[in-house]
Amino acid sequence: PETVNRIAAGEVIERPAAAVKELVENALDAGARRIAVAIAGGGIARIEVTDDGNGIPEIELALAIERHATSKLADEALIRIATLGFRGEALPSIGAAARLTLISRPRGQDVAARITVAGGAVGEVAPVAAPFGTRAIVEDLFYATPARRKFLRSTAAETAACVEAVRHLALAAPEVAFALSIDGVVSFDLPAQDRRARVAALYGRGEMEALVPIEAVREGVMLSGFIGPASLTRATARHQNFVVNGRPVRDPLLRMALRIAYREVIPQGRHPVAALWLDLGHDRLDVNVHPAKAELRFAEPDGVRSLVIGAIQRALAAPAD
Ligand code: ADP
Ligand code: MG
Repeated sequence: PETVNRIAAGEVIERPAAAVKELVENALDAGARRIAVAIAGGGIARIEVTDDGNGIPEIELALAIERHATSKLADEALIRIATLGFRGEALPSIGAAARLTLISRPRGQDVAARITVAGGAVGEVAPVAAPFGTRAIVEDLFYATPARRKFLRSTAAETAACVEAVRHLALAAPEVAFALSIDGVVSFDLPAQDRRARVAALYGRGEMEALVPIEAVREGVMLSGFIGPASLTRATARHQNFVVNGRPVRDPLLRMALRIAYREVIPQGRHPVAALWLDLGHDRLDVNVHPAKAELRFAEPDGVRSLVIGAIQRALAAPAD
């Protein structure tokens, strides 16, 4: 089973940013009100995600790092709503590729419990002092999967990808306080906020003033958020963040819709700035097209595309006040 874990590990966790995303999504799934992420050495040396969520009961701790032992498998509908991805593969995959320590204390449990899995070898559960919630520590990512390690980019590039992942998740859950530190330096420390304030905090206040609000609803699909005016463009698409049903996504359809909407008003090779939330019935969405890529398949892609393009073009055409 260790071999299987190691093969799967490389598929599920392609790089440190993917591990960061999985750990933060688990914290969100656990109902955390505050999530603190600390990254060192590009996330290869160390990733630490601390939350104040439900915690994992001591007797379930060993189960959490076993393959497909998800507590979220119980209810298919719940999976669709609450998770975007792996169904119990994230922690085992990380544990197969790295040294993963979980320290967790649910409310009502006197002390926390700790477990470590390193290169797939699971250690004993031991009591430890810790506050309510969960702390996941990943060290030496891919030490046990050298083939995957070879594909890593520079530490700076891996750090940047981790930061992007956390920013995107923080945008997706503005009601949760989010802190990020990189190599011991605080990158941001945000309180629970509304969407507008979270966008301002992550994008910069000056930029926020230029952003144009978007609101549109059609046939049960709700679009809202903020887009940049044609005068505010970037050399990369890094400042385009989509959140679908509360989950950060990198979706080609949405990205293309943005490009089409701005086609006439911005130069080739420039990218508009946007933070857009899409909320729609879970039956209109298939989130399991490719777990690691967070791509989506809309049941009615044409409707979604035209809603996004139409809303943006109307907003861009409206006279600024
Ligand atoms: P999945 O999220 O698909 O269930 P994971 O491998 O990511 O699979 O996590 C396995 C299980 O461990 C989860 O189902 C959950 O019960 C538990 N778990 C992981 N992280 C946390 C956390 N931060 N807080 C509470 N429970 C957690
Ligand atoms: Mg998970």
